[in-house]
Amino acid sequence: MKLIDGNAIAAKIRDEMRAEIEKEGIKPKLTAMLVGNNPASAVYVRNKQKACEEVGIDSEIIKLEESISERDLLEVIRRLNEDKKTNGIIVQLPLPEQISENKVIEAIDPLKDVDGFHPINMGFLLAGEPRFVPSTPQGIKELVLRSGYGFDGKHVVIVGRSNIVGKPLAALLLCKDANATVTVCHSHTKYLNEVTKEADILVAAIGKAGFIGEEMVKDGSIVIDVGINRIEDKTRKSGYRLVGDVDFDAVKDKVEAITPVPGGVGPMTVAMLLVNTVKAYKMQ
Ligand code: NDP
Repeated sequence: MKLIDGNAIAAKIRDEMRAEIEKEGIKPKLTAMLVGNNPASAVYVRNKQKACEEVGIDSEIIKLEESISERDLLEVIRRLNEDKKTNGIIVQLPLPEQISENKVIEAIDPLKDVDGFHPINMGFLLAGEPRFVPSTPQGIKELVLRSGYGFDGKHVVIVGRSNIVGKPLAALLLCKDANATVTVCHSHTKYLNEVTKEADILVAAIGKAGFIGEEMVKDGSIVIDVGINRIEDKTRKSGYRLVGDVDFDAVKDKVEAITPVPGGVGPMTVAMLLVNTVKAYKMQ
């Protein structure tokens, strides 16, 4: 079994980004909006900022009150759309319930939409002409390719159909530079085990700790675990640890390659956001 090292591959991508930014003497800027006090969101945004600093991308975090109205948030986005110094805009999700995520996503200038969630960018992706691709699917593709595997003619089974992982990943791998055969499963899929067992490459994006067991995985397949789940662990100072959607110990001896959690898809998601920000700078 080969362990796919997302930390190492993400570090390589950051090196490439740093070299490109230095060589071209450019100064892209990413602005992140953080609404409310969700501790996980604060950690994600801080990690993104740290990664920006490391490669020479300017970054700014705009912190907004949990109680902010939708109108006021849209006004902040409007100002950033017009701000010549800001190349990429992200709004950390989830948002408080008084705010429509869709309205916020649609308010971002599609040329600054480095998360790739705007319907225009989703449309480009579905049309097979990707512009900004959401970071997690793009990170998954890079992980597999840079580990020496390909997608051409492979059966990729994705469990999970969210707008941020499952659906854009399916569209990305159907593009003609990937040429995978893609099956997308969800909570209404019948005979799930039989479908996942057909996968040459199995992607788990479910949000349920250890959901994918040995009986769901084909011998010699590649398993990509997107899940990030907290489970109680009294031996840790924090009282918990992070695990994926795959029962790692149960499947590890059966597969050709697998990503760990943490240290697999997670760091790639941040790295691809940097790639998108540099791309945004160049496109503007
Ligand atoms: P969502 O909750 O939006 O989607 C989960 C998907 O899993 C849904 O499509 C759901 O089906 C499906 N599902 C749930 N239960 C079952 C079941 N019993 N059988 C089959 N399918 C099922 O999650 P996200 O896509 O946002 O995230 C998935 C996981 O990935 C989470 O753990 C999240 O934390 C993690 N994540 C990690 C990232 C990273 O950078 N590593 C980035 C983004 C997410 P249905 O649609 O029918 O409800």
